[in-house]
Amino acid sequence: IKIKITNIDIPVAFASAFEGEIIRRGDMQVEFDGSRVDCAELVQTVDASEIEDHKITVVGPEADEMELGSKNSIAYVVKVAGKNMQPDFEPVIERKFHNYINCIEGVYHTGQRDMQRIRISKDAFNAGFRIKHIGEVLYASVKNEFDAVVDKCEVVIYTDPAECTRIRHEVAIPTFDKRDDRLKSLTDESVDVYYSCILCQAFSPSHVCVVTPERLGLCGAVSWLDAKATNELDPNGPCQVITKERPIDERIGEYEDVNEAVQKFSQGALQDVSLYSIMEKPMTSCGCFECICGIEPFSNGVVITNREYAGMTPLGMTFPELASMTGGGVQTPGFMGHGKHFIGSKKFMKAEGGIERIVWMPKELKETVAERVNATAKELYGIDNFTDMIGDETIATDPETLVAFLTEKNHPALSMEPMM
Ligand code: SF4
Ligand code: ZN
Repeated sequence: IKIKITNIDIPVAFASAFEGEIIRRGDMQVEFDGSRVDCAELVQTVDASEIEDHKITVVGPEADEMELGSKNSIAYVVKVAGKNMQPDFEPVIERKFHNYINCIEGVYHTGQRDMQRIRISKDAFNAGFRIKHIGEVLYASVKNEFDAVVDKCEVVIYTDPAECTRIRHEVAIPTFDKRDDRLKSLTDESVDVYYSCILCQAFSPSHVCVVTPERLGLCGAVSWLDAKATNELDPNGPCQVITKERPIDERIGEYEDVNEAVQKFSQGALQDVSLYSIMEKPMTSCGCFECICGIEPFSNGVVITNREYAGMTPLGMTFPELASMTGGGVQTPGFMGHGKHFIGSKKFMKAEGGIERIVWMPKELKETVAERVNATAKELYGIDNFTDMIGDETIATDPETLVAFLTEKNHPALSMEPMM
């Protein structure tokens, strides 16, 4: 018999009302920061005999042994067992940690994998909230939401810095790499089905993401494998199977089956979408895209900017300005929201010539995606170090300076066909 845990045993409130809560530096007791010290959050599938249900262990100092206002390491490993559990479900469960921890009154969480950041407020600490309570929340939430696959759950939270370093580098990162590699070997052609995702319809009622192996959801958080796992976990849930048996136009990636699915899931608001074009029937955008790509007419190319970049782009618009004209679940040819990981994909605006069209990105984004983008450019066009040809804010934020730079670098977009 499975029992729903309705009351989580922690000294502060737990409700979705606290999700948007921000904890300022001055109100914070302690923080954990994966961008500065070793942190990780991980779900591990184990054999039922290896774990004890509801056991929560803290290895290292508790919050009351940490200095007020200090930045610390944290790594939590949520071990799960169940006869229906599959390793493919691990990232889907992990992705929910952000919501779970954010629902705690006086606790804030951002990021994922080994880049999470957590703050515990002075008020929560004074009410008795400790690190072990994060374990209680993770335990209860995972057991509640994933009861179809998780029979037993045990949480180990490491705060000892040496242990956090070990967990991050020897356990977590190899696991993340293995997951990413699995996806790398999949192509859109090698699979029989794609998946829809309508999780964002709460905010963007007609928006549908079509998730393929080479095109993840625009939020960057839903890969094809994640969508597949989400569908298996909840067959009536947000991710549905889309067949791809009736292609209409391979060049732009349009299928009759995909169009029918999009019509159905958008309640008729959307008629047809392409998977690989930003000019013809582009996919819609909700509001949570990691990046926006827009055409830059002077260079025949496209500019990409990301949420973290607050500055100006050569299109004369900032990210929020571009977002206001791209979001909302409507098709806006020439502009498209997408995930960071999509930038290095061979399917990135393939219909318009692919990543060869990219003429500008914020420096930090360019550095993040450089390895994949350069590998793709080498493979598709034989270009070495393609990112050296792409402008950034240290080179230009206006079209004239950008075009001068591109001309000097002999950027391929300049000699391509105009996009409009
Ligand atoms: Fe799903 Fe992400 Fe698309 Fe939202 S943006 S519908 S969560 S894939
Ligand atoms: Zn969204």
